Amino acid sequence: MSRIDPKLRKLVADLVALQKRAKALGIFANDRELLECPHCGLMEDVAANGMLITCREPDLGLDTGLRFKPWGKRAFRCPACGKKVTEPPPGQCPEDAS
Ligand SMILES: [Zn+2]
Repeated sequence: MSRIDPKLRKLVADLVALQKRAKALGIFANDRELLECPHCGLMEDVAANGMLITCREPDLGLDTGLRFKPWGKRAFRCPACGKKVTEPPPGQCPEDAS
């Protein structure tokens, strides 16, 4: 039971490689929650083409060109205001909270 099928192992390795490539291209790999800065309102969104963008109300969906930078474990630095933004817990969408 503990033996993993070599085919499955290969599939998982391929998937991880694909996720890395997608990330390098700027495509959101869906491996974490989308970020929203509580200080200035800059938020991440995924465009129709799968690209990760950042936008602000009222121009939702309009890419600002800014990207959150990793800042320690599960934390990011807001590119607009420079404040620390922690990743929301999995499954909790900021839009659902209101
Ligand atoms: Zn901010």
